[in-house]
Amino acid sequence: MKLFNTLTRKKEEFVPVESGKVSMYVCGPTVYNYIHIGNARPMIVFDTVRRYFEYKGYAVNYVSNFTDVDDKIIKKANEEGVDSSVISERYIQECKKDMEAMNVKEATTHPKATEEIDGMIEMIQNLIDKGFAYNANGTVYFRTRAFSDYGKLSKKNIDELQAGHREIQVTGEDGKEDYFDFVLWKPKKEGEPSWQSPWSDGRPGWHIECSVMSKKYLGEQIDIHAGGEDLIFPHHENEIAQSEAANGKEFAKYWLHNGFLNIDNVKMSKSLGNFRTVREIGEQYDLQVLRFFMLSAHYRSPLNFSAELMEASKNGLERILNAVDRLRELNGIDAPETELKEVSSLVEKFENAMDDDFNTADAVSAIFELVKYANVNLTEESSNADILKTLSVIQELCDVLGIITDKKEEFIDADIEALIEERQNARKNKDFALADKIRDDLKAQGIILEDTPQGVKWKRM
Ligand code: AMP
Ligand code: ZN
Repeated sequence: MKLFNTLTRKKEEFVPVESGKVSMYVCGPTVYNYIHIGNARPMIVFDTVRRYFEYKGYAVNYVSNFTDVDDKIIKKANEEGVDSSVISERYIQECKKDMEAMNVKEATTHPKATEEIDGMIEMIQNLIDKGFAYNANGTVYFRTRAFSDYGKLSKKNIDELQAGHREIQVTGEDGKEDYFDFVLWKPKKEGEPSWQSPWSDGRPGWHIECSVMSKKYLGEQIDIHAGGEDLIFPHHENEIAQSEAANGKEFAKYWLHNGFLNIDNVKMSKSLGNFRTVREIGEQYDLQVLRFFMLSAHYRSPLNFSAELMEASKNGLERILNAVDRLRELNGIDAPETELKEVSSLVEKFENAMDDDFNTADAVSAIFELVKYANVNLTEESSNADILKTLSVIQELCDVLGIITDKKEEFIDADIEALIEERQNARKNKDFALADKIRDDLKAQGIILEDTPQGVKWKRM
């Protein structure tokens, strides 16, 4: 199994620290709003990486944090006049709902930064004791030049970078020895959440959180550390410096980074105002469609979000689900299982694609080929054993990608009536997207709506 390691810029054979086990840390979101579909990309792709390791028989310890103390959270709390924990708790819960709707498995542990402050103070003290950090009037900085490997992940040369930043250095923060020194601990400002420490009442810097949570839940050396490519520098570079300086050993063996999600070919960002929340997309589509869309590209490539591509993903997904439904209902003959060579060779194709740095695009095409094979070759004259075998193979491979193939529960009449009422309300509020979604969802359950002069009538197909 090969994966592309940002540290070496090469595809490398995966060799775990401990045989049969995978320890994985994925940087999670800062929780001050609903997550957007850019944040959803690392969640979906690294959940798929996890699922594939599990399919291969590894026991995966998967840790993904919530950054629940941050300037943006504090700002939002001040705007609403509430404690910042109210904001972070609210959006952690909302994020978990979105993750569930995208069929992202719960992490083995979802640590929160605010619950790990003691560990952070301990690591910072350790870095000070070893000469890798210093206290300047209550702010603790990491002494970047003391860590000789600094820049090894992002391939940045600190001297070259420094040359471009002389003027900033002069006007830089108080007490900082060097431009590239970064904050480990900062004193509180009025109205900010804070914790006591040997240096000041204050709060940790962002980078130290991940070094500490990764060490606590996964140990000093882990297999995989992952996140979006924007995190390579400075976040992951700084995590390496902190962890390796403190622990005296290599931090993560493999560094995986997903490419960015663009929207209509423009980089999606909060400042441009062109971002879309997962929640909004969920009003238009089943979020399985979003998941399927994300996996239609290689995780390291940039991916463009557009209505056309979402429609194509919706159709593709339906093709798979329809084939699964058909196989479920197909009544063949009572005969022994045959060799099913095509099926095994497509499973092999799927595995080869995933073994090659998680090439989900090719893995999806192997599933499409299986679907085509089933549609063409499996009929009432096939053996039930073959039908069942092919069905379970398709379902198992879909499950690796996190695609749910189980039929949704049948709606009962009361549910239908309630949904029709919700649709009427949506139409009154001119929320036609929601109204259409409800109609489409009902249709997917075999319920047809008719608008008549006497109101909305429904029937089963
Ligand atoms: P943040 O809450 O900004 O720290 O982001 C949480 C995760 O989402 C990080 O791994 C980011 O790299 C990732 N991320 C943010 N925006 C995008 C985007 N447009 N495309 C892909 N990943 C993103
Ligand atoms: Zn992180």
